[in-house]
Amino acid sequence: MLHPVGPGVDVWRPRVALHARCGARPLLRLLGWSHRAPDPRCTCGIYAARSLLELDRPRPAWPPPPVVGTVSLWGRVVEHERGWRAASAYPARLRLVCAMCAWFEPGPGVPLVVHAFVGRLYALCARHRGGIQVPDGRRSSPTSLDPRELQSRLLDAYAVELVPLDQVAPLFRLPRTPEPRFAYLPSIRVVPAEE
Ligand SMILES: [Zn+2]
Ligand SMILES: [Zn+2]
Repeated sequence: MLHPVGPGVDVWRPRVALHARCGARPLLRLLGWSHRAPDPRCTCGIYAARSLLELDRPRPAWPPPPVVGTVSLWGRVVEHERGWRAASAYPARLRLVCAMCAWFEPGPGVPLVVHAFVGRLYALCARHRGGIQVPDGRRSSPTSLDPRELQSRLLDAYAVELVPLDQVAPLFRLPRTPEPRFAYLPSIRVVPAEE
């Protein structure tokens, strides 16, 4: 099951369209401020960026997404400069990428190993195959999964096509994402691979 990239709570279920729900605070609802998502005056809706390069690249304390893709949007759609908020959505194309190359620092991008961390899977390239470590010291652990096999299972399960490599490759060449200026949370780091 694919988890959302942002703070959303709804997972992407295979072969099931995702429909937006407004999470406006219960107090506002009591005051009669309710609406269908997305509403132009609210922040609700399913978010889609115009391109992968438009997505913010923060340095969170938790591992970043190892799956990127394009999405189909329908129903009410609110347009913004860098993307859209929609009422309904479903993935159009997907690809498994190295989570570190895609969001933290340049690298080959093509997954070589699959690690597990708190019940989720992370694809990692030759450069990042040592795994990732979060600030409290916990590390990802290697699995016996083959990334190509995992990717074909993903495409089958969601019944979608593969995103062409040249559409995602620019992500792997972006400069290293800087540390936040105020390090209220130390960020994750790469575990050096054993030779
Ligand atoms: Zn709303
Ligand atoms: Zn990598």
